[in-house]
Amino acid sequence: MKKPFIAVTPSYHSKEQITYVKYTYLKALKAAGAIPFTISLYSEGEDLKQILSMADGFLFTGGPDIHPFHYNQEVHKNCGEICDERDRLELSLLPLAMKTGKPVLGICRGIQLLNVALGGTLWQDIDSQVSSPFPLAHSQTFDYRLPSHTVTVNPDSLLSSVLDCCEIKVNSMHHQAIRDLAPGLKAAGYSEDGIIEAVEHPGCPFFLGVQWHPEYMWETQPAMARMFHAFVNACNPS
Ligand code: MN
Repeated sequence: MKKPFIAVTPSYHSKEQITYVKYTYLKALKAAGAIPFTISLYSEGEDLKQILSMADGFLFTGGPDIHPFHYNQEVHKNCGEICDERDRLELSLLPLAMKTGKPVLGICRGIQLLNVALGGTLWQDIDSQVSSPFPLAHSQTFDYRLPSHTVTVNPDSLLSSVLDCCEIKVNSMHHQAIRDLAPGLKAAGYSEDGIIEAVEHPGCPFFLGVQWHPEYMWETQPAMARMFHAFVNACNPS
């Protein structure tokens, strides 16, 4: 049986001029039955169209902060590193990927990218912008394979059917988060402090964004492995 090709967006080390994808994503996709490939940051026009027809699904990976100008905000002093090349590739890729009707998964920066590309906004720094009586460790400093906080999953969501549960313990390596949801998106999970940790698009066959990093947890947490399987199974090999 043919395996689906999954297009994966890369990170960019601008000083060294190196694009790279963390092996954890590729390993998780392979284990779920896919063949992942990385897109060049400079894909545009006809090249991008050809990539869109070749790919059976799209993974928007973790990475630096999105430039706040893309959601009409000034830059907060605690906004982190920004990669213009990556912003441009991913913001142009997402609407085109959605037009194909092929599955989309966003992880960490990926969920934020899905939201910004569709017209939503972000908290640029949770710690300084969102008050909470018990600040959670959204930027955990310990082993990424270990959970840091709980996410309550909306029982009517695609995510709850994929995970087969309404509560999941997740890792957390983000200092930004969704502020205003983009039109069309639905929150599918929240942490206890009210941060949106998962989104879906009910108008798309498979469209999921999660704020945590399941690629570090699928080997020990079966629910996380089910997420990658559900994504890959939703991709039809062309
Ligand atoms: Mn978190």
